[in-house]
Amino acid sequence: MKYIETGSFPNVARKFNVMRCNQCDDAPCMKICPTSALYRADNGVVDFQDEDCIGCKSCMNACPYDALYINPETMTAHKCNMCNHRLEVGLLPSCQIVCPTEAIKIGDLDDPGSEISRIVARDDVAVRAPEQNTKPKVYYRGADQASLDPTRTAIANDGMIWADTTPSHPSIPVHAGHRPIDEEGVIARTAYTTAHHMTWKEKVSGYLVTKAVAAGVMLVAALMVLLGHADVQAAVGVVPPMVAGVFLGITGVLLVADLKQPGRFHYLLTKGNWSSWLVKGAYVLMVFGALSGLWWIGGLLDSPGLLQWLAVPTALAAAATAGYTAYLFAQCEGRDLWQTPLLLPVLLAQAVTAGGAAYAIMDVFMDVPSSDAVRWVLLAGVAATALLIGVELTSHGSRSVELAVEAMTRGRYANQFWWGGVVLGLVVPAVLVVIALVAGGGTVLAAIAGLCALAGMFAYEDSFVRAGQSVPLS
Ligand code: SF4
Ligand code: SF4
Repeated sequence: MKYIETGSFPNVARKFNVMRCNQCDDAPCMKICPTSALYRADNGVVDFQDEDCIGCKSCMNACPYDALYINPETMTAHKCNMCNHRLEVGLLPSCQIVCPTEAIKIGDLDDPGSEISRIVARDDVAVRAPEQNTKPKVYYRGADQASLDPTRTAIANDGMIWADTTPSHPSIPVHAGHRPIDEEGVIARTAYTTAHHMTWKEKVSGYLVTKAVAAGVMLVAALMVLLGHADVQAAVGVVPPMVAGVFLGITGVLLVADLKQPGRFHYLLTKGNWSSWLVKGAYVLMVFGALSGLWWIGGLLDSPGLLQWLAVPTALAAAATAGYTAYLFAQCEGRDLWQTPLLLPVLLAQAVTAGGAAYAIMDVFMDVPSSDAVRWVLLAGVAATALLIGVELTSHGSRSVELAVEAMTRGRYANQFWWGGVVLGLVVPAVLVVIALVAGGGTVLAAIAGLCALAGMFAYEDSFVRAGQSVPLS
């Protein structure tokens, strides 16, 4: 249930709506679910299967309506399934049975003669967020638009009714410039709603960085081979795949640790839904891991021929490892900020940065074939990332994106973004690398630049991941 309040005293009104799963015809939650734990039942209902859910929370980011939550008892994703266990035996859903004013009606929209079809055809009905193209099948009759669009209401600073504190539900800032005013100049506020929590946090931000390091170090190693350094056993043949292996391992640990049902992680392979980029990504990581393993064997055997043979496929697998998350985030249709087409190039640029950073750090401990080439790679990665982020944050596509960008650059995550992502992650490394390149020597300086770039990358990714989830959906 959600209550909103509109108007100014004494002309005020409180309005009530049920914010439930829309049983979408084109349901992004089903597409992203890696194990098909969310599925369409024969009667059209989008239902769920507890036993198959690994608790990855992807569906919660894919649903543009905030309709899913993790049930703390089962640690699996739940939502309204229209009491499908009742529908299947010919009963009506409990909410329709108990509603004293018959405010809820459920029926067959495929039957033009059904009462529900006649209401939809005849009355003034609206759906939530039609622009998401999910073809929602819950229609609201005579609803206030401010009820259906959460970006037009705010939670007041003094909280909600029956709530001592402001809950963790994301809310539009109430400060000037974002006052939720509708066409008639009426300010609406959310007075009561369900608390929803951010689902992807530091483990997902961390996984983006560790994956970038694993991919990046092999990209630079492949570059070294293509530049004719395949015979450098330690710094090209042996150490890079070891670094990639360690960071790939950390990536896997972070991914599994973020699951609410970590013991079921193998369902990604045994019950994999091939429309989910979580499943495709798992295979990408495995192929990349296998190629890195072969590379390591080639290094141990001191076989430049094998490394030359592996260079192009390994570079391609590394690029796929760095970039597939752009497609996973694009499947999170509830997070407009993540829909940017620039996410793929940003992730690739970050992999180049991370590869240059890893090599700059390795340069302190071993003889790297071309220190200057490594520094140029780091500088190119940082410059490309800065350019892409700049373009990304200035080209807003929708009000949700605007709100997320504001949270990132002027709101709750601004310090993290500017001081961490921009200053520590881009400006400081660029300055240090230029000094190292101009002054010569500077191995330690370049290594510090690499460390700063990696720390800043985490800060940026964390602000991007969190800001994307900060815009309310219900
Ligand atoms: S996308 Fe959301 S609203 Fe649509 S079917 Fe899935 S859970 Fe329900
Ligand atoms: S949490 Fe993951 S596995 Fe469970 S239903 Fe949602 S997407 Fe599917």
